[in-house]
Amino acid sequence: METFQEHYDAMMEAIGRYAPNTDLDAVERAVQYANENHKNQKRKDGSPYIIHPLAVAEIVAEIGLDTDAIVGALLHDCLEDTSASFDEVANLFGRTVAELVEGVTKLTKVDFSTTEERQVENLRKMFMAMSKDIRVVLIKICDRLHNQRTMQFQTPAKQISKSRETMDIFAPLAHRLGMQKIKWELEDNALQYLDPEGYHELMDYLNAHRSEAEAFMENIRTRLSDRLRQVGIACSISGRIKHVYSIYRKMQAQHKTLDELYDLYAFRVIVDTIPECYNVLGHIHEMFKLVPGRFKDYISTPKPNGYQSLHTTVIGDEGTPFEVQIRTKQMHETAEYGVAAHWKYKEGIDSGNEKEFEWIRRLLEDQQETEAEDYLHSLKVDMFDDEVFVFSPKGKVVSLPAGSTAIDFAYAIHSGVGNTMIGAKINKRIVGYDVQLHNGDVVEILTSKSAKGPSRDWLNICKSNQARSKIKQWFKREKREENVARGKTSVEGELRRMNLLPALLQNEELQPLLLKKLSFDSLEDMYAAIGYGGITAAKVIGKIREDLVKASRSAEVAKQTRVLEISSPGRKPHSQDSGVIVEDIDSCKIKFSRCCTPVPGDEIVGFITKGYGVSIHRRDCPNARTANNPELASRWVKVAWVTGGEKPFATTLEVLAEDRERLLLDIAGILATEQIRMREINGKDIAGDRCQFTVTFEVKGLPQLYSVMRRLRALEGVVDVKRGQN
Ligand code: MN
Repeated sequence: METFQEHYDAMMEAIGRYAPNTDLDAVERAVQYANENHKNQKRKDGSPYIIHPLAVAEIVAEIGLDTDAIVGALLHDCLEDTSASFDEVANLFGRTVAELVEGVTKLTKVDFSTTEERQVENLRKMFMAMSKDIRVVLIKICDRLHNQRTMQFQTPAKQISKSRETMDIFAPLAHRLGMQKIKWELEDNALQYLDPEGYHELMDYLNAHRSEAEAFMENIRTRLSDRLRQVGIACSISGRIKHVYSIYRKMQAQHKTLDELYDLYAFRVIVDTIPECYNVLGHIHEMFKLVPGRFKDYISTPKPNGYQSLHTTVIGDEGTPFEVQIRTKQMHETAEYGVAAHWKYKEGIDSGNEKEFEWIRRLLEDQQETEAEDYLHSLKVDMFDDEVFVFSPKGKVVSLPAGSTAIDFAYAIHSGVGNTMIGAKINKRIVGYDVQLHNGDVVEILTSKSAKGPSRDWLNICKSNQARSKIKQWFKREKREENVARGKTSVEGELRRMNLLPALLQNEELQPLLLKKLSFDSLEDMYAAIGYGGITAAKVIGKIREDLVKASRSAEVAKQTRVLEISSPGRKPHSQDSGVIVEDIDSCKIKFSRCCTPVPGDEIVGFITKGYGVSIHRRDCPNARTANNPELASRWVKVAWVTGGEKPFATTLEVLAEDRERLLLDIAGILATEQIRMREINGKDIAGDRCQFTVTFEVKGLPQLYSVMRRLRALEGVVDVKRGQN
């Protein structure tokens, strides 16, 4: 069984060798703290739990990370598995360490294993997006490496699911971060659980040919070494059999057996300078037969993950092909430990230009501008800041714009889900629609067939264009009438805001021009579009504002019979002549209709005439009923009396009576006692000894008119008194 001391020593040795600037006191305290916290825990193999954090810290030190990362690695399972808290860790080891530990813990909680091929890239992105500090990813990869190394103690089911995760998420991330060595080990290790047969077949083959292979490699190594020594190039040369998974994958991809497989061997020549790299290349091409098309110069054109090296494949005397990689020491560090290696160097390295690796280029570019020590701290994994990755209950990963809510999620799944949504759960808890989603959240949408459909508020809550356009589509389709009414209201409001008459839109000459300008077939279509939110009223009116202003100023309203200054509500009428205001219109020509002769106190409406401004009718005037005619409807406008006016208004009464003497005098007498000025009185005989008088006179308002009518009715012989409606 592995012991604490073994692992402690191994870690300290790695620190001494690869991370010599580490603060050993902090490491010591972290070991104590982790040991204390994990003291009653055992690993699956029965060994003390502390061995795991020690081993992870050892790997973290090996790749040359800093004190915070090593301490973070030692504490990486404390927040999850022990009573340690964020604040306690922050107090004892600093906030950075606490945040690293918290970041690793968060990643640990998410299940990144998936069976769906096309989900994998999203999972990787989610993984990166969840780690605000690149060191979180690096520690997590080291954690996985140790877990993978000790996978034999897990259940078979867990071995497979974890290895799948390693293959899909961790190895590719290690690759992208340029950590070849770790990537290979992760892949080879995972392969033995994912395809035990294939793995062992391959291993058996390689083992069976091992002595042969070793003899071959030693031979080549010696020849290379002799030659380069002769020409005075200091170098170190190593030979190896390519890693198992890369051979395995080539066999699968090229449908080849091991014997047919092209090159199993790789040699590495490490020199001091770049010119020496090319020099060595020349010598190798002189010594061995070149395989055409296999030479790659990653020094002049580095790989996107920062990898630099010369690659060439040649054929040895026995006809066995082998690959040679030639690079400087620094390039080698980078190749082995990738991003992590940059902690050790102040110089930046060039990067590639493939779109897919945009983010890693940014990582590397950032580094060029920063001192190596600061680099670590400035390095943020912010390339996915504008995206959030969440899970469906079935484990499907959905990528949404940052700030998205359950509404966005629902519409991302299917518009049918969004349109029947009646509630949402995040991580199994019911939440409001406006709650923002976070990376790794599991989102569940509750739906009902009897759902009322989306609410208009959702348009303000949702973040994605997809959700917004689907919600708008729904409103467009489902609620035409409502949309038309809503659109009309907002257009009229907008017009009033600009002191324009809504009726202008109805103008027979103007309307077709306006619609053409706005590209709508009809006003109703325009209202509907505004109603469902496809376009705003302000935008529509803005486009035709000038035409409307022009029209409203045009000669149309110049001819009038009577001019009244009209004031809008809230403003004092500024003319003694005023009697009526037309809603939201500062000034326009007013005439009082002769058919119903309204007086102050009557309910009135205004009708926009052609050429005479607005004519005022009583609401109960038969002529006003044309308001129901849709063609004319829009020409009716709201009007109101200006209160407190002393100006008399002419009105007409019809008096039906038994014909008798002095009736005319009695009528005139009543008007006289009321101090009313009579304008006109006409009498005519009608059937059955009756007569009818039409009296036009001036009153100040309805109370006076009613008083006159009451008194007239009281006259002897009067049968009926009613208001004139010619
Ligand atoms: Mn762990």
